[in-house]
Amino acid sequence: MIGLVLSLIVRLVVFAVQLVIMVVVWSFRLVAMAVAALFAFIASERARRAPLPPGRQPMDPDVRWTVFRRDGYACAWCGSDSDLTIDHIHPVALGGTNDISNLQTLCRNCNSRKGISASPGRYRRRELQRVR
Ligand SMILES: [Zn+2]
Repeated sequence: MIGLVLSLIVRLVVFAVQLVIMVVVWSFRLVAMAVAALFAFIASERARRAPLPPGRQPMDPDVRWTVFRRDGYACAWCGSDSDLTIDHIHPVALGGTNDISNLQTLCRNCNSRKGISASPGRYRRRELQRVR
């Protein structure tokens, strides 16, 4: 009889310990999930408030359209009129600004070919001289 009660108590204790371990593990997981969510939220807030890398100024939409209009809604390199982007002639990473004289219309294809090392100002000037 005593043996039966003892084994019952032992089983209950083991069960209680397992339950405690489960609760602790799950609460750790919950805390970890909450912390991860918090960090993700902070990162997204930071990205939302500062979407541009340091040194980059947001481009005024009016400036974009002025450049497109000036360049005749065509790529300054190949003349394509599809998938147009605004390109910094002197790259921002090298100190270029959003001034309209530093901007040109390029199609995405030419823009990606240009990279950061190219010196496209010459091309553009040649193109504009030919047009004018
Ligand atoms: Zn092009």
